[in-house]
Amino acid sequence: MKEVFYDIVVCGGGVAGVAAAVTAARAGFRTALIEKQCLLGGLATSGLIYIYLPLCDGKGKQVTFGLAEEMFRRCVEYGPFEVPERWGGPAGGDPGIAGDRCQCCFSPAGFTLTLDKMLEESGVDLLLDTLIVGVRKEGRRVAAVETADLSGRVWIGGKCFVDATGCAQLAKLAGARVLSEGNHNTPWIMEMASDPSFFPFTESLHVRVFGKHTSEYASEPPCDGRAVTEFVRRSWRMIRSHYDQFDRAGRRSNYPVHLPAMPQIRKVARIDALYNLGDGDAGRPFDHAVGTVGDWIRPGPVWQAPYEALVPKDLDGVLAAGRCIGASGYAWEMFRVIPAAALTGEAAGAAAALCVQKGLVPKELPWSLLKERLETSGA
Ligand SMILES: Cc1cc2nc3c(=O)[nH]c(=O)nc-3n(C[C@H](O)[C@H](O)[C@H](O)COP(=O)(O)OP(=O)(O)OC[C@H]3O[C@@H](n4cnc5c(N)ncnc54)[C@H](O)[C@@H]3O)c2cc1C
Repeated sequence: MKEVFYDIVVCGGGVAGVAAAVTAARAGFRTALIEKQCLLGGLATSGLIYIYLPLCDGKGKQVTFGLAEEMFRRCVEYGPFEVPERWGGPAGGDPGIAGDRCQCCFSPAGFTLTLDKMLEESGVDLLLDTLIVGVRKEGRRVAAVETADLSGRVWIGGKCFVDATGCAQLAKLAGARVLSEGNHNTPWIMEMASDPSFFPFTESLHVRVFGKHTSEYASEPPCDGRAVTEFVRRSWRMIRSHYDQFDRAGRRSNYPVHLPAMPQIRKVARIDALYNLGDGDAGRPFDHAVGTVGDWIRPGPVWQAPYEALVPKDLDGVLAAGRCIGASGYAWEMFRVIPAAALTGEAAGAAAALCVQKGLVPKELPWSLLKERLETSGA
């Protein structure tokens, strides 16, 4: 079987994966980014999400920086929105869409174009329409991933890997322990509507949310193709029941335009990390914090991400990034969103680059090296 080799292999081209790949490539390493779809941004774009949640703590202070801020500023490049110039101040703050927070809206399609530009600028080798189906290990260490594309099967080897699949799929394929939690089913779609009830995207295009955050729509995380199918079709039934109310005339100006191309499952699976963040960690300082995120639900204590939450317990040569790092409960809620995905992606990319440079596996990386690197980049 054909085999190609890189320094760093990033699995999954969502926000976390793009951040990891851009960071590794900017550090001068030969980096591949493997994505099964033909879009970049994962849930944030093909899931039709359009809100870059806040970089601030809700009390007027910015707490997330680095690549998360760079993506925040650039996500509006191909869309009708602006990032707020002023926010969080006592007077004249930009109200944005959900209070006075440092957040913004973006066009999902426009954000994909920007993410691709960032990959091009940094020299990442992007492989779209390429599905990771297997892993080869040498002892505990991941040595290569097996991919399927139009040519058939290809092995992609690397010195260090980033699991940014959003569902810890690399860790799972490598036989590592992964964990999960319950979910809510609230489909978001884009529609053409004469009477916007949720969010006016442009004059006639709107984002509509179906269902509520109640146990009525709660479910266990789907764990195979059959269960994902049922999850997605339940969403479609909810959507159909909304549009069924319109007669022929009403359908001329009320109809769905885009359905999500990715199952809108908030929490699929995450790694079992050297440290798993939990509910008691709000506001807790960590010795090895790679960055900070605000509570996006309500102003509150900030959350630090310890490096150990990115390192799987039972696997070498791999770092996790994005919504599959070690976190549970409310902590997982805090770290599964876009700014946290960018933040942990940058940290994973920087750590992977240092590991390759020093010939180490992630758990051996001296903290002082990563700290210096993240401070230099402003993260
Ligand atoms: C309904 C809903 C609403 C949300 N609203 C918001 C919001 O308003 N604001 C916000 O900030 N966040 C929101 N989120 C959460 C947020 O969008 C995501 O959790 C975040 O974007 C996750 O980024 P990620 O890069 O970690 O993972 P993902 O976006 O899941 O990216 C993972 C990527 O890996 C790829 N991949 C997976 N497996 C493989 C494989 N085997 N081979 C190759 N590629 C693979 C996927 O195709 C995907 O592109 C919402 C989520 C949902 C479900």
